[in-house]
Amino acid sequence: MINNDIEIAVQKVPEDQLKTKPDQNNLGFGNFFTDHMFSMHWNRQQGWHEAKIHPFQQLQLDPAAMVLHYGQAIFEGLKAYRTKDNRILLFRPQDNFARMNKSAIRMCMPRFPAERVLQALRALIYLDKEWVPHAKGATLYIRPTMIATEPMLGLRAAEEYQFFIINCPVGAYYSEGFNPTKIYIEDEYIRAVPGGVGDAKTAGNYAASLKAQIGAQKKGYTQVLWLDAKQRKYIEEVGTSNIFFVIDNVLITPPLKGSILPGITRDSVLQLAEDWGMQVEERRISIDEIVKACEDGSLQESFGTGTAAVIAPVGEFCYREKEFTINGGNTGPVAQKLYNELQAIQFGEQEDNHGWVVPVS
Ligand SMILES: *Cc1c(COP(=O)(O)O)cnc(C)c1O
Repeated sequence: MINNDIEIAVQKVPEDQLKTKPDQNNLGFGNFFTDHMFSMHWNRQQGWHEAKIHPFQQLQLDPAAMVLHYGQAIFEGLKAYRTKDNRILLFRPQDNFARMNKSAIRMCMPRFPAERVLQALRALIYLDKEWVPHAKGATLYIRPTMIATEPMLGLRAAEEYQFFIINCPVGAYYSEGFNPTKIYIEDEYIRAVPGGVGDAKTAGNYAASLKAQIGAQKKGYTQVLWLDAKQRKYIEEVGTSNIFFVIDNVLITPPLKGSILPGITRDSVLQLAEDWGMQVEERRISIDEIVKACEDGSLQESFGTGTAAVIAPVGEFCYREKEFTINGGNTGPVAQKLYNELQAIQFGEQEDNHGWVVPVS
């Protein structure tokens, strides 16, 4: 069923119908889409079929399409980076596709031929290569997605799916500087439960997080820090990023125990810190430990990690109406060094010793 030889057709937009490209210095995030997309379909009889790169277009979906009712939808997020000498690089794309296949298994969706889809992605980006921004720090954000398309009401796993990849040029995340964010520690709503779907990148997780996110924003915070569902005691993630702390020069992050999304940036950060000889721990961290470390001054830094921002330093926490400032509200040296090194690898300016970078052509 996982056919790595699947034929990929290419249907190009006629030259005179290509879109006008947006202003590279005003891209924002997720606003513009390139000329082409990739898509393929799955059903039980044919497996994956009708794979093609074609003009960016609306989906045709029956109102009874099962994704709209029962939520079988998974996605990924990765980026393409333009180097100074005009090559285009992907960062750990195989890991994104492997994670997406894990999400597929969790959501009872079919696995897809990851190697072949990576080839299709490279061809798609090459075709739309003028869309990979030249502006400093700007990138092409890539959104692979899979949804249940079978038109049927009645709860079971669907028997028809569509997979697609759409790409959008996005601006530098820190166009106004690498500024620490204010984080609200959420002790009412939760993101994920053990045994649930927190470790899958599935659409419903994000819908479920909005209520807390809006509440935190109303109170003046940028993001929510999630605690565990059972005891509201152990730290899980921050917004849609993994979370790290530096306490007494040790880099600490919660372990992957099923309710946390296994971030690729998280994994890269752990690897780089180990390379530097820094002590690294993946272990449970209680909110009480963090409060205590804030109070006795042993908490040196905290930051989120994810594809969009790479590293997002935390300047302040609010827990039960009390505010805690971290590192005087400034970006710390570990966050800064990780950010610099990861960006340098991603933009091809520093040697990649881990085989993370994959050229588009
Ligand atoms: C995508 C995501 C992350 C970060 O993963 P990366 O692979 O580093 O981009 C972390 N937490 C959640 C909930 C996510 O959806």
